[in-house]
Amino acid sequence: MATLDRTRIWIGLDDTDTPDSGCTTSTFDDLLKSISHLNDFQIIERRLVRLWPFAERRTRGNGALSCIIECSTDSLPEFEIAISSFFNELEDTLNSEGEIYSLTSPALIYSFEELDEEMYWEAVREKVEISDRINKLSGVNKMTLNSDWGLIGASSAMAWKPNSNSTWELISWRYPQNIGKKRKITSSVIREMESEHPETYVNRDPTKEKGLIAPRTPCPVLYGIRGASPDSVLSAHEWLQSNSEVEKCQRFAIHRTNQLSDDHVNGFFTSTVLTRPIETKGGHSTIQVMLSGESKTLVAFKEGGDVNRLLRRLIPGDRINWIGLESPDGSIHLERLRIESSVPRVIGRPTCCNNKTMRSTGLNQPLKCDFCLKIIDRYWLSEDISLSKLELTNGWVEPSPSQRRHLSRPLSLGEPTLSIL
Ligand SMILES: [Zn+2]
Repeated sequence: MATLDRTRIWIGLDDTDTPDSGCTTSTFDDLLKSISHLNDFQIIERRLVRLWPFAERRTRGNGALSCIIECSTDSLPEFEIAISSFFNELEDTLNSEGEIYSLTSPALIYSFEELDEEMYWEAVREKVEISDRINKLSGVNKMTLNSDWGLIGASSAMAWKPNSNSTWELISWRYPQNIGKKRKITSSVIREMESEHPETYVNRDPTKEKGLIAPRTPCPVLYGIRGASPDSVLSAHEWLQSNSEVEKCQRFAIHRTNQLSDDHVNGFFTSTVLTRPIETKGGHSTIQVMLSGESKTLVAFKEGGDVNRLLRRLIPGDRINWIGLESPDGSIHLERLRIESSVPRVIGRPTCCNNKTMRSTGLNQPLKCDFCLKIIDRYWLSEDISLSKLELTNGWVEPSPSQRRHLSRPLSLGEPTLSIL
């Protein structure tokens, strides 16, 4: 059987970029190019994996890359030479950029076996200790520069097992002579691309008329198109590249990703609101809720838009469904929110003559109109919680697309599921 002569290899890479230069996605593409001459070389799948948003050591978006390749078994010695020399050249390239090099901690890993999926789950949901991760990687081929921090991302990207929640991102890279210049792609072209290719998503923020596919940093990425299948992102890309107003890319690649998977959170919780909202500096709001017998602080940032607006309308006794991520300080940063049931909002006493409010005649005594002297049983007027001016999806609210995490599942892709504790 021919397959006996082929070997499958998992490769992971992370932390080769700095805020101002490079992008691990293009470095990884260079790496794959440097081994593409191997006999029977084949890329099985490229993967772009987002990890725990609160990780201390991380680049913007906290993404890492991996790839499954195959090549003929007799070219394995050549593979190992090529990958080492690629890493040495990477060091030279980063060194030539001077001081900024010290901000990176590149890590390259390869393995002839699949890594334990648990490495992915801990890195997408919580803080990973580097010493712990190094222990788990004993016996795995790894190279690092500056520090070992990049090993967490690289190994977690290799350990990720795609599932039915996977999405795809086609990343295109710019010609070197264009890097640093303004990208040629308008928001109206992106809007048209989106309507022509409904299986792509999170391409723009309709609330701000702002395209989201092109980064705003001087990195080599021209744009990234997200979608439900490899075909959907490829046809959207071809459509864009055929438009004379759009900058031509030098190269592109399709990645399977955990973006929009909600893997960083564990379904939604139901809680009773304990306090009125407190508005903090900068327009953020917090409330206390009860969760598993404990009082927890829920935070809705100003940027959370409708999540913030709905949180501010809550009062003690309301029952809410929420999805959020526990931050290192113990507070929970909300990502989605829904009212399950609300207590009536007291708006005042009933009115009588001239629309004047009826007054209480004493503790537990009836109400009286000061004009016609009518007496009635005491009661309050109340109304339901107002949901006006909120963009609701089956009762849920979420931040606008530009304010959502890469990992967060948009409500348009389906209703959140209940947490399994
Ligand atoms: Zn009256």
